[in-house]
Amino acid sequence: MLEMKHIVKDFANCRALDNVDFSIDKGETVAIIGPSGSGKSTLLRCVNCLNRITSGSISLNGETFVSTPAGGKAEYIPDKELRRICAETGMVFQHFNLFPHMTCLQNICYAPIKVKKEDRKKAEARGRELLELVGLASKEGVYTAQLSGGQKQRIAIARGLAMNPQIMLFDEPTSALDPEITGEVLNVIKKLAEEHITMVVVTHEMGFAREVADRVIFMDQGKIVEQGTPEEIFKNPKSERLRDFLSSML
Ligand code: ATP
Ligand code: MG
Repeated sequence: MLEMKHIVKDFANCRALDNVDFSIDKGETVAIIGPSGSGKSTLLRCVNCLNRITSGSISLNGETFVSTPAGGKAEYIPDKELRRICAETGMVFQHFNLFPHMTCLQNICYAPIKVKKEDRKKAEARGRELLELVGLASKEGVYTAQLSGGQKQRIAIARGLAMNPQIMLFDEPTSALDPEITGEVLNVIKKLAEEHITMVVVTHEMGFAREVADRVIFMDQGKIVEQGTPEEIFKNPKSERLRDFLSSML
């Protein structure tokens, strides 16, 4: 469904992604693991074009959105194309980024109404279904400033889903949460995986990656070093770097 080839992303003084090939099929759940600074967030941000790639190509459902010659200069990506690919992806960040002066339902319905120009009644009906899905139906009229961290993140997930994106992207959705409430957020993501929502999850939760992901990708120093089923990655790591990383996570 999504195919990224030969992705290079340079910042002023570092190469954050070094010739990465990444693809995901419809309905697949991919977990990305790796040490700090290995390029996990940058890869997610290149998928939804929050970061413009330096070179490479990005295709969605066979249609190429962005393409530059290997090693060549990045083509100018028209804003219209950027907006289109952005609209196909929903992103959930470590720090929720909710609107504190709006209720839960208003947070969820804001983009469908303002950006997609959906009818308010229809957007609210769908918003209520999503509140149900994340287990927060009773919080509909509550301002998000009054929620716990785990509840805020569940609202952020519902808000991402409200745009009906083709792919949901999660960047360490539980790492800002107290350990005792990470479970409630991981359970929601697990439920989405069971409903075959296409997802990429950057996570430090190895147990979660092992249990929920169809495929696990290990990144180090801007490259995909190894990828495979959870069984292959966690039981039979091939590279020294992955073995070291996994033992450091114990
Ligand atoms: P973490 O686990 O700490 O979140 P990460 O794997 O998500 O790490 P990235 O945030 O993708 O790592 O960063 C990859 C590299 O790119 C790092 O060396 C980082 O310093 C650099 N980098 C990321 N964003 C920028 C930026 N906006 N400007 C300059 N350098 C950046
Ligand atoms: Mg990161």
